[in-house]
Order: sequence, then structure tokens, then C-alpha cells
Amino acid sequence: MLSTSSRLHTSVYATLLSVVLICATVHFTHFVAPFLDGYSTNTVTYTALIASCILAPPASILMAVYSSKLIKIQEQLLELATTDPLTGLLNRRAFAHRYERESARYSRTNRPLSLLLIDLDYFKLINDKHGHAGGDAALRILSQHLRETSRFGTDDVARWGGEEFAVLLSDSGHQSAMRAAERLRRQIETLKVTFNDTPIRLEASVGVIVCRKGESLEHAVQRADLCLRQAKDQGRNRVMAFPEDLPAVDSDEVSVA
Ligand code: GH3
Ligand code: MG
Ligand code: MG
Repeated sequence: MLSTSSRLHTSVYATLLSVVLICATVHFTHFVAPFLDGYSTNTVTYTALIASCILAPPASILMAVYSSKLIKIQEQLLELATTDPLTGLLNRRAFAHRYERESARYSRTNRPLSLLLIDLDYFKLINDKHGHAGGDAALRILSQHLRETSRFGTDDVARWGGEEFAVLLSDSGHQSAMRAAERLRRQIETLKVTFNDTPIRLEASVGVIVCRKGESLEHAVQRADLCLRQAKDQGRNRVMAFPEDLPAVDSDEVSVA
């Protein structure tokens, strides 16, 4: 079924197409009529006008409906190619595109870019306790929360794999990235997740890096993963930053667990 706006576009498109078809037919007939023996130019032109007025609208409607269906299919294909089916978040491929775009913007404008790598703690135990369906439900609820709380249009959130997520923070240096990571960690800790009326408690470890100019996504993720491993080693449910990213003067820095 076509939406109201699609129907409006289709109607406008069909009307314009009809007018173009009718004009083109009449113009063409008027041009060839003098070469047709036995008929006056007017007779041929009027006949062509009546015939095109009858045939052009249904032909245009058919073409318009099919082209809007094609556009819709194209949009669905694009969504399938760029989103993770379980969570609706960006997939790796789409995230890589966003990273390239943001990294280029960083090089151009000097406005910093940070990356968070989030891994849910002891998620295997959640699956063991609530079943795989419970784990899936938790991933979906958390993803919806991440989508709703990210700064739409500037932050990009992806499911990096399994129970791991990546967040790209544009216009964010070390301090604001740390604040965002700590806020996210706390939100995950207090997020209300229930499955079959049983609450599921989530916790996460977060690795934070400030991206370097021209740094590849692969390298950035490697550095963020190092921080993540450190957060896990130090007891989980905490945020760890890449040491070399720390600013020389530590002013209003949030304390990290
Ligand atoms: P750690 O704190 O060290 O990260 O422990 P963990 O249990 O979270 O990590 P581990 O790598 O041992 O296990 C990850 C678990 O995540 C195991 C896997 O079954 C589960 N998982 C990965 N993807 C999905 C998914 O799509 N749905 C569900 N339900 N579980 C998933
Ligand atoms: Mg993991
Ligand atoms: Mg985990």
C-alpha cells in the first residue's frame, strides 16, 4: 500500500506525465499529418488529441505507480543493507561509511571525533538465565534506548557484533566523550529491561578514544578495544580511556571508575 504522501507524489507525477504524453502526441501528429494522404491536418490532430486524452492518463498512472513501488523497494533494500536486523541499529558497513565521512570532516574542520566501544558484561549469563529470547529482548530494548538517547544526526550508533556496540561522537574531544560514555554506562545500569515479567539487569564496560586525523576505522577500533579489555580486566561496569588521549591539563574531567 502506498502512503498518503506517496499517493500525492504519484498523482502529481501521473498528471504531469499525462500532460507531457498528450502534448508530445499532438505535436508529433501535427508534424506528420501533412504527409498523410486523404486526411486533413486538423482531423488527424484532433483524432490524436482524443486518443491520447483517453490513453495517456491510465498509462501514466500505471507508470507512476510502478516507479513509486520501485523507489519504495530501493529504500527497503538500502535499509536492509545498512541496518542490523535484530536491533535496527546501523550495521558495520553503514558505520564504516559514517566514520569515513566524519573522519574527513574532522581533518577539514579540526572539530574532534571520538569513538566509544561498549560491551555488555557477562551477557552469556543473561542468556543462560533468561534464554536466548530473553537475551535478544534485552539487546532490542537497549538498542532502542541507544537510538533514542543519541544526538540524532550527529551521533551514530551501530551494533558492532554480538553484545557489542559502537558509538561515534562528532564534535567531541576527550572530556565530552568521557562524559557521554559515563552517562551511557549509568543509563545501561539503570535501564528497565523485563522479559516474561522478569527483570533483566544489564551492565556494560566502555572503551573511549579520541580519533586521530586520518586514522583508519580498523585502527581506531583496535585502540578502543584495548581500553575495553582494560575495563573488563579492572572489574567491568566502567569506562576506560586511551591514555595518550588524555589532555595535558585535566580540568573538569569526570572521574572514571
Ligand atoms: P564479558 O563480560 O567478558 O563480555 O562476558 P560475556 O559473557 O558478555 O562475553 P562472552 O564473549 O563470553 O559471551 C558473549 C555472549 O553474547 C555469548 C553469546 O551467546 C551472546 N550473544 C551474542 N550475540 C547474541 C545475540 O544476538 N542474541 C543473544 N541472545 N545473545 C547473543
Ligand atoms: Mg563481547
Ligand atoms: Mg560481553
